[in-house]
Amino acid sequence: MDFELSETQALVVKSARDFVERRLRPAAAELDREARFPTAELAGLAELGLMGVNIPQALGGAEAGVIAYALAMMEVARGCASTAVTMAVTNMVGEVITRFGTPAQRQAHVPKLTSGEHTAGAFALSEPGAGSDPVGMTTSAVRGDGGWIVNGQKQWITSGSKAGVMVLWARTDAPDERRGAKGISCFLVPRGARGLEIGKHEDKLGLRASETVSLAFTDCFLPDDALLGDLHDGFKIAMMALDGGRIGIASQAIGIATAAFEEACGYARDRKQFGKPIADFQAIQWMLADSQTELDAARLCTLRAAQLKERQVPRFSREAAIAKLFASESAWRICDRALQIHGGYGYVKDFAAERHLRDVRVTRIYEGTSEVQRIVIARSRLS
Ligand SMILES: Cc1cc2nc3c(=O)[nH]c(=O)nc-3n(C[C@H](O)[C@H](O)[C@H](O)COP(=O)(O)OP(=O)(O)OC[C@H]3O[C@@H](n4cnc5c(N)ncnc54)[C@H](O)[C@@H]3O)c2cc1C
Repeated sequence: MDFELSETQALVVKSARDFVERRLRPAAAELDREARFPTAELAGLAELGLMGVNIPQALGGAEAGVIAYALAMMEVARGCASTAVTMAVTNMVGEVITRFGTPAQRQAHVPKLTSGEHTAGAFALSEPGAGSDPVGMTTSAVRGDGGWIVNGQKQWITSGSKAGVMVLWARTDAPDERRGAKGISCFLVPRGARGLEIGKHEDKLGLRASETVSLAFTDCFLPDDALLGDLHDGFKIAMMALDGGRIGIASQAIGIATAAFEEACGYARDRKQFGKPIADFQAIQWMLADSQTELDAARLCTLRAAQLKERQVPRFSREAAIAKLFASESAWRICDRALQIHGGYGYVKDFAAERHLRDVRVTRIYEGTSEVQRIVIARSRLS
């Protein structure tokens, strides 16, 4: 076991951190206030190779590995959580197409995602009636002349209107012969596909500069070569993608919590009450000590899961779920303590503490709620 970063990993962290200090941290409050999609910031990340950290150089990626990706995500989320989630989904989509796509599909989409020619990628799994249980999806793709006809609704799709390409899941089994998880397939949908309508833009508690939309598919035609992976193999692809995605969201939670923690330390040193800095009070020190401990533990869990994925072990679902569960739950506590340390000033927008608390909340919900992570962990021990 080696806790030292490789030269490549250190370089990725350094370039992400420089960008965060120069461009992201100064912009984050305004992006949040104006709920402005971070188009320029995402282009900056693409220039640094951060839209394809774990994607081969031949496809325009940085080919720096999963650990480098997790570390970069921690840095970017420390600067702006909204930019970070958009980066996370784009990296995930690039990886899914790289892994399951044909050479033509890879060439058509991945270099555009990594270079920033596509502003973002989108991952369309959830539906109004199917969140924790995606097998309950009803969106269907029915065989038509030379392709597939898609009908249905998707819900909560990050970057749904901005994405140059979307990975879409739909039922491909016959209505009278439902095959459960084995009747779902995966498709690539280009931006502006006819029959795809962008619905409601969600007005969110946090991550306000990221885009979350619903999508309606009405007789949307997709050609044969839009099928990603094998027919009826889509659920497996989704679960594999989510294992990796959970490492990204754990890292995002850690990044947000790191920002909150660092700011709380600074505030505790500056703020005086009873004639001394509040950092001198043991109650404050204990909050900071608990936060530092949880941050370290979350980092270790997350980097362990990242290392397993990097080593290409066949399954790392349990470790990814542990990382996501522990990092998101502890990040929530860390951001809450940071706000508490700011007292009344934490509750208003003069400081970033309230934004961090709003932003971090969703990490306990998306890419599988904390309850779903517990199901994955418990099943892996009991089955
Ligand atoms: C900002 C945002 C961005 C998102 N981005 C995307 C995206 O890009 N692509 C995408 O496909 N989806 C996306 N999602 C959807 C997200 O993954 C779902 O919201 C999540 O999986 C939960 O589904 P749900 O909201 O339908 O809740 P439900 O599944 O209805 O769950 C409601 C509650 O019941 C609990 N619950 C459900 N089943 C069980 C069970 N068996 N045991 C115990 N408790 C259970 C849940 O944990 C939760 O507390 C996004 C969501 C948000 C909020």
